[in-house]
Amino acid sequence: MNLKIKHAQMAEPTDPAATASARAPQAARQPLAGLDRGELGAFLGRLGVAEKAAPMRANQIWNWLYARGARDFGAMTTLSKDLREALAQRASLRRPEIMRERQSSDGTRKWLLRLDPEEAGRKPAEIETVYIPEEDRGTLCISSQVGCTLTCSFCHTGTQRLVRNLSAGEILAQILVARDALGEWPHASPTPDRAGAPRRRITNVVVMGMGEPLYNFDNVKKALLIASDDAGLAISKRRITLSTSGVVPMMRRCGEEIGVMLAVSLHGVRDEVRDRLVPINRKFPIARLMEACRTYPRVSNTRRITFEYVMLRDINDTADDARALVGLLAGIPAKINLIPFNPWPGSPYECSPWERIERFAEIVNRAGYASPIRAPRGRDIMAACGQLKSRSRRVRAPEAAPGEPDARNPVRGQRLNPARR
Ligand code: SF4
Repeated sequence: MNLKIKHAQMAEPTDPAATASARAPQAARQPLAGLDRGELGAFLGRLGVAEKAAPMRANQIWNWLYARGARDFGAMTTLSKDLREALAQRASLRRPEIMRERQSSDGTRKWLLRLDPEEAGRKPAEIETVYIPEEDRGTLCISSQVGCTLTCSFCHTGTQRLVRNLSAGEILAQILVARDALGEWPHASPTPDRAGAPRRRITNVVVMGMGEPLYNFDNVKKALLIASDDAGLAISKRRITLSTSGVVPMMRRCGEEIGVMLAVSLHGVRDEVRDRLVPINRKFPIARLMEACRTYPRVSNTRRITFEYVMLRDINDTADDARALVGLLAGIPAKINLIPFNPWPGSPYECSPWERIERFAEIVNRAGYASPIRAPRGRDIMAACGQLKSRSRRVRAPEAAPGEPDARNPVRGQRLNPARR
């Protein structure tokens, strides 16, 4: 491209956000991860790229970001030197920093990530991301919020109050960081499989880490649409699962607008029990939740809903509970993941005895539903289901950066934690 960039000549942004960004100090560079193609093209326009050329340049940058994992504008050799220099001054490719990595004896890896304060313009916060390798797949469990507004009583994250929502870039960055750490980018010589093709280490993504993803819908949607884009990370929507505690009013939109697989944290088959385990049930009780599952867009035998069911001794693990579960699932193409409870310090529950879990699985299985007992992974490093928690604390109002949304209500107009109302 023929780009003559001098800062004095840059096109003056006309929209308020762009104006603010142009006046922002050097440190506040625009993070590129998390912008959709239109936003990327608009940003390039503000750098002086001609309108006609912007979509093509946006596609090239997209490829560098998501297909090759570029971390340096200098590496983007399909772009002109002028554009690379302009990007280096005004944009950022920074990733969250790995503060700590722990590896389980079973190969599970857990990263404590410090989010880039440059992107958020706030105090740093930390999240956890987990990689679970199996023989035939590699699953990355990503977070959608720092902390959680919900207080599911079996979940360690639920003891950490919500600090804030993650941006789309921060959600995506967990996949980028994991690919960096696993050496999965094409230039990193991944181990070839039998066909000689690069073997993917991250085959599946589950949004089951910290937070309730449907309370951060817009950012999660944007991140997952970018992650599933064929020209980039190209993770099939059938291999992405979003797990909700049961935010009923958002479930249809999840199916229609994101189109990924759905998992539901059920854990109880009677309202009085589920009220205690998953308090959002008081707002959206089981009958409403099941109806939302029955009508989830495109649900079918090849796109079944996964129901997560944590096995808690003497709470939800009887044969009657198993039969009631079968009754609830009538008419829903479903699979049930039985999760032996993963204890955490101070947790009020115990895992059900093994025989009881097997008996439960047998009843559900005989009724025609797949009901695998999920082998606990990463327990020794507190990376198993329901064990994630970071040290981030909610920022008190006087500490918040100017213009930062109130951490008690980080998304304007969004009702937080209906369960607590
Ligand atoms: S199970 Fe999910 S929604 Fe419930 S407290 Fe834990 S992270 Fe939040």
